[in-house]
Amino acid sequence: MKGRLFGTNGVRGIVNDGMDCVLAMQLGKAIGCYMGGRIALATDTRTSRDMLSSAASAGLTAAGADVIELGIVPTPVLQHYVRTHEDVNGGVMVTASHNPPEFNGIKCVDSDGTELPRDKEQDIEELFFSKMECADWESVGSMRSAPEAEDAYLDAVTELVDANAIRSAGLTVVMDCANGAAYSAGPRLMDRLGVRTITVNADPQGKFPGHPSEPTEENLRDLISLVKASGADLGVAFDGDADRAVFVDDEGNYLSGDKSLAIIAKAALAKSKGTVVTPVSSSSMVEEVVLSCGGTVEYTPVGSPVVARRMMAIDALFGGEENGGLIFPEHQHCRDGPMTAAKMLEAVVRHGPLSQQAASLPVYHTEKRKFPCPDGLKMGLQVYAKELFADERLDETDGVKIIHDDGWVLLRPSGTEPIFRIYSESSSPQKAAERADLIQKQLQERLARSE
Ligand code: MG
Repeated sequence: MKGRLFGTNGVRGIVNDGMDCVLAMQLGKAIGCYMGGRIALATDTRTSRDMLSSAASAGLTAAGADVIELGIVPTPVLQHYVRTHEDVNGGVMVTASHNPPEFNGIKCVDSDGTELPRDKEQDIEELFFSKMECADWESVGSMRSAPEAEDAYLDAVTELVDANAIRSAGLTVVMDCANGAAYSAGPRLMDRLGVRTITVNADPQGKFPGHPSEPTEENLRDLISLVKASGADLGVAFDGDADRAVFVDDEGNYLSGDKSLAIIAKAALAKSKGTVVTPVSSSSMVEEVVLSCGGTVEYTPVGSPVVARRMMAIDALFGGEENGGLIFPEHQHCRDGPMTAAKMLEAVVRHGPLSQQAASLPVYHTEKRKFPCPDGLKMGLQVYAKELFADERLDETDGVKIIHDDGWVLLRPSGTEPIFRIYSESSSPQKAAERADLIQKQLQERLARSE
């Protein structure tokens, strides 16, 4: 049997309905066979964490690997541990990031702490679907815990920001941990930075009673109210495994990930010049800000591993996605929620209140559309879109991006669902909506003819 196991974010599914202990054990065995040696293992707070991590550990040790358990920590803590321990060959994170609580999944970390690239996932898939050999009785692996991982990570983050300046500023922060993996590391980081912290949803309750773990404006109403009521300098919220962070400014406005990306890019460029790497789906606002600060922008296809690897290849200054997944190369080449929070505090101390910084950003409007498109027709539709707009300025880094003087339209099939997406951005809200609607009509008419 052969097939595809890993999606865009590891292996994910509903617990005991696809994502069960047998799958976790077999996958652990495949990962153990592939990586060998010592492998670090961590989880987020989901109620299925013990079941799946025990099963994965059984598989890993059966293959002869030794497991180092980090417990419940943010994904970037696991990545930091793997990267800073040369005798650790890789990592396994039991998480479904921002998905609902009935989901869980397994994501692999490479020996350098980055998300495992696709070709290595394919090697693991091949092992998974083959007849895997277990280690002989003398060579089965062992398990031990490494509770020091979180402290070592917090030390590293604290050293990479101006901790003294943050401590002297007497800041107040409201932090929403989404009942997820940041419940300990997040508040403890604030403590180290001398920040008065009001926490919300900071209990590690894996059923996510506070709100769904995707940090959207709608899900963060309590955080927004608390920021306003407390007069805090900012609010910060993490997703379930805390590789992403989003912010609420001191006036209680929710900031889109594009805005925090631009604000932190600006702060980075104030220190030194360089290239900011971001996917083609990011707002032109980011490019405008980066160019005005003397930096350059390089676009990649959508997906954080490709952003991280491009950053490594060109020695980029900074990078990240518009969903709050920001990457700081001086720390590590992966998305990092707590590091993002620390850098935002530093930006506020150095460059003024978050509301003022946000208000100074160029304004663009984005309209998003999606419509059903069978997987088999996606490529044909993309080719049609390219022909349809052949006379326009196109960027084909990922999908088809039509570039206008006042914005752009990105046409892109979803990598995980039978859906085709349209993102339309313009400095004029009417133009963004008109273009999105017109193109959706054109593509859907074409789709109807090919079905
Ligand atoms: Mg995540």
